[in-house]
Amino acid sequence: MLKDAQVLQIFKDTESVLKGHFLLKSGRHADTYLHCTTLFSYPNFSEKIATFLVEKVQEKVKNFNCDVVLSLDAQSLVAGYETASVMGVRHFFLEKVSDVAKLNKILNLDIGDKVIILKDVIYSSTNIEPFVNKIKELGIEIVAVASIVDRSGGRVEFDIPFVTLLSMDIKSFAVDDCPLCKQNLPLTTL
Ligand SMILES: [Zn+2]
Repeated sequence: MLKDAQVLQIFKDTESVLKGHFLLKSGRHADTYLHCTTLFSYPNFSEKIATFLVEKVQEKVKNFNCDVVLSLDAQSLVAGYETASVMGVRHFFLEKVSDVAKLNKILNLDIGDKVIILKDVIYSSTNIEPFVNKIKELGIEIVAVASIVDRSGGRVEFDIPFVTLLSMDIKSFAVDDCPLCKQNLPLTTL
């Protein structure tokens, strides 16, 4: 079985593919959500997913070397920790992506450290880029941006290697154009 099919199967086996009416962080609405928090509540599956992710980063990045995994928010913490554990390197996390301004205080990184940035679900590069730029300003080398799910179906692009385990084009709707709202389905905030 191909790796992305295996990953999707793990999401299904852990009942982490949610169906309903969801308010996404972007403010848009969707009928499907891949819930990494549920998946990563199972340690055996978490380790498997992290191992897949490390293998994929190693395939993509030549002369791969990494000192630190940095999770971009609390939601990505377990994924980041497991990934760091598989590689035998340190792990840090930010409470949320917007904590970028506090980066110097929070992180104990050294110039020359090679970092993998990890976000559980990515749907756009625009909310990650300020963080990437800030890290670069500190003289820290970013080896790759990694995510478990790319919800854009492959449209996300960075000028550094980007690795995702599962790329799915999950439709989302503007609030005033949401067919689920029109059906009066209760909205779940994630
Ligand atoms: Zn809606």
